[in-house]
Amino acid sequence: MKLARFKRAGRISYGIVEGQSVEEISSTPFLPYERTGEVYALEDVRLLSPCMPSKVAAVALNYSDHVKEMGKQVPVHPVFFFKPSTAVVGPLDTVIAPPGCERLDYEGELSVVIGSVARSVDPARAKDVILGYTCGIDATARDFQAEDLQWGRAKGFDTSAPLGPWIETELDPVDLALTTRVNGSVKQKGRTSSMVFSAPVLVAFVSRYVTLLPGDVIMTGTPAGIGPMGDGDRCTVEIEGIGVLEVGVRGPAEA
Ligand code: MG
Repeated sequence: MKLARFKRAGRISYGIVEGQSVEEISSTPFLPYERTGEVYALEDVRLLSPCMPSKVAAVALNYSDHVKEMGKQVPVHPVFFFKPSTAVVGPLDTVIAPPGCERLDYEGELSVVIGSVARSVDPARAKDVILGYTCGIDATARDFQAEDLQWGRAKGFDTSAPLGPWIETELDPVDLALTTRVNGSVKQKGRTSSMVFSAPVLVAFVSRYVTLLPGDVIMTGTPAGIGPMGDGDRCTVEIEGIGVLEVGVRGPAEA
């Protein structure tokens, strides 16, 4: 099932996407809900970020080919940082480079959406707290990341966490193709089977230290092929079994 959040006639709702339409539900996917019977064409609504996380935990260096391109070692345990709730934007929104940034990068990432409160979850039970998966971009001010010891401004700036287009709830995340394109040209082509730590392991690990709330998101890291985006570019992340997330870019004049 594909769960979306959308705006229509000034009203924000959640719904179930089927083909080219979306049926509104009575509540959020994180509470009991019913189908309302109100069905809209997807082209008549504006899709929003499919959830409103209290925080996005983003995992660094989780694909071995990306670890290699960064000249780093594979970490012995998952390493994560946070993007604040204010970093989240949705489909067809614009990633805006933070002030002074001279290199704004895409990082396409499979993103886990938490469905229920998770604290010290056993890896074998992690599935029970995962609502589903969506596409994400860990937008990064690469120059700030190199300058700073911590990545608050490099990876937590407003608009740095696009999510969407919806949450796919029936998906096995172990071996999915992930493709990032800028203006239609392929920049990253990976498979989630190359992850160092799997999605359930990441949920379990993060939840040992940080309570995860319904709607929270874990970005699971990016494959090789990172690179810059420039002003006016269109960036898409396509994940097999989910769909395509597209955003615009307001960035440095040249990528
Ligand atoms: Mg990343």
